[in-house]
Amino acid sequence: MANYSRRDFLKTGALSGLVAGTVFAGCSTGLNGRETKWKGEAKNVIIMVSDGMSIGTLSMADQMKRMQHGSASTWVSLYEQNILKRGLMEMTSATSIVTDSAAAAASWGCGHRVPNGSLNIGANGEEHTPIFTHFRNAGKKTGLVTTTRMTHATPSGFIVNVASRGEEDAIAAQMLDRGADVLFGGGNAHFASDKRDDGRDLYAEFQAKGYQVARSKSDMKSLSSDGPVLGIFEEHHLPYTVDHVNSDELKNRVPTLAEMTDVALGRLSGSEGFILQVEGGRVDHAAHQNCAAGLIYDQLAFDDAVAVAYEFANANPDTLLIVTTDHGNANPALNGTGSGYRDSDSMFLRLSEFTGTNSVILDNLSSDDSLSKIREVIEYNTKIAIDTDQATMLRNAMRREYREAYARMNSANPVLGRILANYTAVSFTSGAHTSDLVELGAMGPGSETINGFYKNTDLFTLMMEAAGVPATV
Ligand SMILES: [Zn+2]
Repeated sequence: MANYSRRDFLKTGALSGLVAGTVFAGCSTGLNGRETKWKGEAKNVIIMVSDGMSIGTLSMADQMKRMQHGSASTWVSLYEQNILKRGLMEMTSATSIVTDSAAAAASWGCGHRVPNGSLNIGANGEEHTPIFTHFRNAGKKTGLVTTTRMTHATPSGFIVNVASRGEEDAIAAQMLDRGADVLFGGGNAHFASDKRDDGRDLYAEFQAKGYQVARSKSDMKSLSSDGPVLGIFEEHHLPYTVDHVNSDELKNRVPTLAEMTDVALGRLSGSEGFILQVEGGRVDHAAHQNCAAGLIYDQLAFDDAVAVAYEFANANPDTLLIVTTDHGNANPALNGTGSGYRDSDSMFLRLSEFTGTNSVILDNLSSDDSLSKIREVIEYNTKIAIDTDQATMLRNAMRREYREAYARMNSANPVLGRILANYTAVSFTSGAHTSDLVELGAMGPGSETINGFYKNTDLFTLMMEAAGVPATV
């Protein structure tokens, strides 16, 4: 993993400023009315997606990194140095202001707003060609890297046409048919013959098409240099970072997002150019579960992958690097607490002592457990000793007997999240996606068009036009 000093950013910032700030007189105008000299200038496109990242998530990950390591997160550093152009993006889908991950990925993946739950199929059943098909037809390589199942919504949005994101067996088969040069993630459940409903052995079928298959970090590191690869490292999603770093077995077997990104870039890099989507998918899951430690440490793991992508883009200026998210989720925040808010910092730092996520805590509890067992399991994973009243609230939630004024907060995850907020000062507004305008950062050819406000579907146009890839059916 490369480390970036502030001095490096200052150096590269000055250089990239020259490129990004150049005025191209006499060109026609394109996206957002900007000059279009950049069209076709991007040999490579990298899009980094922290799934379900509210602004509070970006903020808290940066603040935690500064408190723990004395340096900013890569993403915020790139803003700080004006290396990334920055805008807000509207992620509305065809059916709701609040998008799901499928419609969000499809808006970038085909340039159309589709119904929530759909992957590149419109409200009337019309199929929209996914961006990977266009790039492959133009002779470019394609890659997907994710911490979720390979067949989850965000990676799928760039390669398949499926009416319902839940059809993950079908999605895996379409990935085989359509092909990609790099596929790294989880989701053995949709590739293995003993797990798929149709009994097909997709590993064997990928191998028959010339793919090398990796099932562990060591497999990934020993892949031979040529040809397409399929890396499936977990039964479903890859582990949360907090759980990953606290298990020797997981650390040895499962690669990090940054490690997968590094290998993917090494394989995709070449004379043809490529498009690579990298998803930090479990940021979204931690938000759904109101799990602050899961959220912040997965965002920091995503940030490590951004550092890898930035290193590549900085060394290869003909690369359009996009760093973004597909929607807010549960809008977490570090709340002012104590007299003059003086308690917030120390409370927030308690998250650095967590060794297990809400998932691990709740997996180890049942609604029949004693209050002392509930307190014990929470203290083991968080170093926080909750009181008996709080343990009672959680047990009532597990028994579906707990009632909040906002009924969406009645279940065990939000109740656990709110109990822990008394100690960490981090709370959530719900367990669902939000309509927030999202962060959009970019550098390289085409990033000139990021000038304040963007529509989700325009990002498809930007990637296509920056790479000079024509639309093909
Ligand atoms: Zn999402």
